[in-house]
Amino acid sequence: MTRRQPGPAQQASQDSDHSVHACARTRLERDLTQPEIQQQPFFWASLLQRSSPTSKLRSRIIPAGHGFAFVPAPQTNFRVVDLHGQQVVDLMAWCLASNLQTAHPSKITAATTTTDAEHFSASYTRYNLGGSAPPIAGECLYTNHDRAMIKVVADKVKCHDMLFMACNPSFYAKKGLIGQRSCAANIAEALNEAGILLRFEGDKATQTDDGDLQVATRPFNWWDVHDPFNVFQNTPYYSLKALECSRKGDWIEFQALLRCVVALSSCPYDQDGFNGGEITDVGIVWEEE
Ligand SMILES: [Zn+2]
Repeated sequence: MTRRQPGPAQQASQDSDHSVHACARTRLERDLTQPEIQQQPFFWASLLQRSSPTSKLRSRIIPAGHGFAFVPAPQTNFRVVDLHGQQVVDLMAWCLASNLQTAHPSKITAATTTTDAEHFSASYTRYNLGGSAPPIAGECLYTNHDRAMIKVVADKVKCHDMLFMACNPSFYAKKGLIGQRSCAANIAEALNEAGILLRFEGDKATQTDDGDLQVATRPFNWWDVHDPFNVFQNTPYYSLKALECSRKGDWIEFQALLRCVVALSSCPYDQDGFNGGEITDVGIVWEEE
């Protein structure tokens, strides 16, 4: 597969989050004006205003064909930026366990990095939008429990997909592409790297001898992920053609309405001109508690 090689700027910034404790906008702008970032002036479009004096603004460049997961502060915005154009970004989200009670509050950490049984649902979102999907600014992505989860705040592209599955290892194996990276595996990998565990016995919790409530958890496999919101994907009526969509520097901004983990994947599918025939990096800026 062809793949745009990351330049020095991207390599330097891939592993560096930009944490901002005070004077958020100024600090983030200084980070983005470092020489290696200046090579991508369109990344300025990713600037967000911090909504709380105690939160941190963070940004990340997701390498081409890879994934990333983050936990936005509830009620804050996050922005997905197409840094080079025509790059699809698969988005998935799970609510995090928040209803677990424990006799030992210091032990709550593990529970709070566990997914709840509730997650983004493409079919529920299509249902709630009455057939007008994908959502436009002011409309929401819904969960499988029929709750508004993530709102679209602003959108430079207005062209996205909620019909296709995430590409996955079986999909590529059928095409003879063994070992190809995939969105499903990228997102499972990103969730695991973020320390998010999959809760796999629904809402059931058991009480330990010392009074803690525990749920059964394990790391994610690629087959555990749900159907995605395919950001910047232009595939009307299931057509899988090389249709242009987002351009360099385009972005969509969301607001997290619930406490959740959001996982993204720069889609590695480059066949038949999809993703512009060349997989590229994407940018993400979010606000963290
Ligand atoms: Zn994909």
